[in-house]
Amino acid sequence: MPGNSLLIHIDNPQLYTTGSTVRGCAELLVEDKLDLECLEVELLGLAKSRNHTYVNGSYTAGEEKHRLLQITTMVFPPPDVQDVTTSKNYTLTSGRYNYPFEFVFPGKEHVAKCVTDKKTFHSKYYLKKDKRDHATLVGSFYQEETSEDYFVIQYSIKGRVKTPSLFKFNIKQSVPIYFAPRNSEIFFSLLHLCDRSKNLLSDENHACQRVKYGIDSEVKESKSFLKKLLSSNSVRVPFELNVRFKETSPIETEKGITNRVLEAGNRLSKHVDLDLSTSFSYSNLMDALGMNRSDKKGIAHPPAIKLTHIKVKLISKVRFLGATETYSTLKFDLLNQPLDLQINLSDFEKVDYNGPHLVNYSPSKYADKLDKRVCYRLSLEPSWWDCYVNDIGQSFLTCNIRKNVELYIRLTIACADNPEKEIKIKNTAPIVFYRQEGSNEPSYHEEEQLPPYMPAPAVHDDDSKSSDTK
Ligand SMILES: [Zn+2]
Repeated sequence: MPGNSLLIHIDNPQLYTTGSTVRGCAELLVEDKLDLECLEVELLGLAKSRNHTYVNGSYTAGEEKHRLLQITTMVFPPPDVQDVTTSKNYTLTSGRYNYPFEFVFPGKEHVAKCVTDKKTFHSKYYLKKDKRDHATLVGSFYQEETSEDYFVIQYSIKGRVKTPSLFKFNIKQSVPIYFAPRNSEIFFSLLHLCDRSKNLLSDENHACQRVKYGIDSEVKESKSFLKKLLSSNSVRVPFELNVRFKETSPIETEKGITNRVLEAGNRLSKHVDLDLSTSFSYSNLMDALGMNRSDKKGIAHPPAIKLTHIKVKLISKVRFLGATETYSTLKFDLLNQPLDLQINLSDFEKVDYNGPHLVNYSPSKYADKLDKRVCYRLSLEPSWWDCYVNDIGQSFLTCNIRKNVELYIRLTIACADNPEKEIKIKNTAPIVFYRQEGSNEPSYHEEEQLPPYMPAPAVHDDDSKSSDTK
């Protein structure tokens, strides 16, 4: 039957989300005549991952394909005909036929098709690791490590004319469409947000480093021999960089509520507060340095800290299955900025403290002089570090692909008396990442306007040749 063809038209192209309806029509062009059993249209969502490895020197490639969503509807014969006929075969004469269809994207309650199918060899690797028994819909996503190692989350509308003869090919057509669930409906790794005991991480993320404070030689020289003996030459003072997640978009999880969330399109300061804390008060440090006892003659500078640089990044960590497990880390710089700030330790504010970190980092020699229940804190003003959060795509979890996101903040500090000796405090906080949503969400009507992580090259839109869902 040369000349017969099927076209799929989408009436409302856009980035679909939870609850959205895809409307379109299947257009069948019959040149002469067409014998057919039916015409089916399907909304299909696939999570496909592929990679390669060398086992004993020999190349092995492998692929996993999981069906997230599959809704099939028969548009021909039309529903009213389906009800009254037992006929299996139909003949369409030359002409142009249009059959409308529509599909609605389900929400969080949807269980991935591959999971409900209960196929014997269906591997739920990441779900099992995460102690989850089902997956739901995740957003369109494409990432390529090499031409052989990639993964894709892909949605499409497929049309298929079933012909009665075994020897005639079915007529098929497929067009990609794009989907991202509402942020409130996403499915992500809980393990990523838990500590080693599988408890949910708190809404604060700490990182600690020590800065060496010494007495400059001028002051030392001015002291008497006895005073020199009594005083220490240097103290390593711990500084903790804290990222505190605000209650901006709390997420209720099976393990409790977490505020470790960043949403693209916002300023970072909408989601977090930053501060720098230490176990030493100004007078603790003066004491430790022996400066409170120093001669009136000695000119002791009050101890101060310099903040010299701040860097903010998002880190996307994806693991995907195929012949092996491939790890992919992508870093997205949000801010990389020199600072020129000097703050006296006397400007740090005394606050209650119940974390263990500062104690562990404080020199044991001063253990009985430092009050473990308090610390001295400097809130870092947003003007020093605030930045725009770019959209790198939602966190997600499927049987074969897992995408986790971390917020990385690196603050470079130095003792004001020795600014060359810079110390970098790196705070890496596991988070859930939300895409840009709501009133400030860009509108997507063309493929070119989609977020860069979404459209997959056309070559990946063909799922006909490969084997069935694993
Ligand atoms: Zn699966």
